[in-house]
Amino acid sequence: MKYSFKDKKITVMGLGLFGGGVGVALFLAKQGAHVTVTDLRNSTELAPSIKQLEGQPISYKLGGHYEEDFINTDMVVINPAVPKDSRFIQVARNNHVPLDSEINIFFQLCPAPIIGITGSNGKSTTTTLISKILQETPRITWIGGNIGKSLLLELEEIKPSDIVVLELSSFQLEELHTTKKSPGISVLTNISPNHLDRYSDMDDYIRSKKGIILHQKPEDYAILNYDDPELRRWEMECKGNVLWYSTEETVTSGAFIKGNDIVLSVDGQRVAIPCVSGIKIPGNHNLQNILAASCAAYLSGARRPHIEKAVTAFAGLEHRLEFVREINGVRYYNDSKSTTPESAMAAVSSFRTPVILIAGGYDKGSNFEKFAEVCARGTKTVVLIGKTAGKMKELIIQKKAQKGTPSICAPNTFKEAFRQASATAKSGDIVLLSPACASYDMFLNYEDRGRQFKDMVCAL
Ligand code: ADP
Repeated sequence: MKYSFKDKKITVMGLGLFGGGVGVALFLAKQGAHVTVTDLRNSTELAPSIKQLEGQPISYKLGGHYEEDFINTDMVVINPAVPKDSRFIQVARNNHVPLDSEINIFFQLCPAPIIGITGSNGKSTTTTLISKILQETPRITWIGGNIGKSLLLELEEIKPSDIVVLELSSFQLEELHTTKKSPGISVLTNISPNHLDRYSDMDDYIRSKKGIILHQKPEDYAILNYDDPELRRWEMECKGNVLWYSTEETVTSGAFIKGNDIVLSVDGQRVAIPCVSGIKIPGNHNLQNILAASCAAYLSGARRPHIEKAVTAFAGLEHRLEFVREINGVRYYNDSKSTTPESAMAAVSSFRTPVILIAGGYDKGSNFEKFAEVCARGTKTVVLIGKTAGKMKELIIQKKAQKGTPSICAPNTFKEAFRQASATAKSGDIVLLSPACASYDMFLNYEDRGRQFKDMVCAL
């Protein structure tokens, strides 16, 4: 084992609210390390995570970082959300303190093969689909990573014959790069501009995503979206086998749609799975996710009945185009996890009926040109909130003149936005919360935003 944590002083930088920080802090404490957790947020903001660490011998330095925790320590474990230019990381480097991350530790210690999933959108949905399919097989399946669960605490139970399904963010992949490891099966959903507030440019962001194939071996597999122009260019850089998937074209190696069939063409075998009409999750993007998941699960031992059963049973994840309720013929959908223009575009394009869209939020530097075009073409009303409201409004008005006719308003509060959206809706309409932006300007996180929306729907 590369690591020895017992009696070591370890600083966990960034506890966060998404499970990774809690997982690694608990793991290290249980291994006998002296753990200090430090985070810019205070104890009130981090209360849900701190509660999960109750009773553990962990020291806290919250509401800011202190240099001493980056100097007088044996190791710093960095949360992927911490910006790489943090001056505290530099302090650790200057003092020759080793830096590591939860995902690196897991990759180095995990005895089972790993399926890694990344992309700008669709990671959690595809990760969940893969594990749902594999759960239909006898193979023991573990799901974790960026989806909100650290598997470090499960390490002792994971056997070499099991399979691990890991969602990987670009930030986690950047960390992983230092270990020179990539998953044995890597799934790429799509690449579009994202987190450009953290990356210097699009190439930098793409470089981080490529970490998922960079250290693959010749016997490994990369499963790539053929319908994505960026990913179509990646074949030459893949070190192992490449499988493509497409909802638009027939591919020779990989997965595609033929009538009601998902067709898998893998390692010379061809399997038709008649299940498309039974799929519950809406939209072409979800069909892409299903194709990617079917390929990955097939490579890991799933066969036709397992895939058919799981993909037709899957009703989607909370906050991802989640159907909430129908009232007076108006259907309400919560797509609060839509934090990019592409995911909001996919949501609007999933419906044939008139859409009243609630969008807007924290500005992470996204380009809303195409989103505005889709709004102008595919919505009846757009209700805008948050920091990006002004920018979005201007763009939609420009596109509207050329393409379509949505009415636009930008109220001050989420409550008022919801009131206006539901007041406008007529029987047959869809009220869709799909913000295209992160939530941090008005909410704790996307879950908070989605729950507030659902509470207001339920109160109608
Ligand atoms: P991620 O984990 O990458 O954020 P999720 O599966 O949680 O992806 O979905 C996030 C948002 O993206 C949701 O709004 C969802 O409806 C949308 N989405 C899911 N799959 C795709 C896809 N393949 N392309 C575009 N948008 C997608």
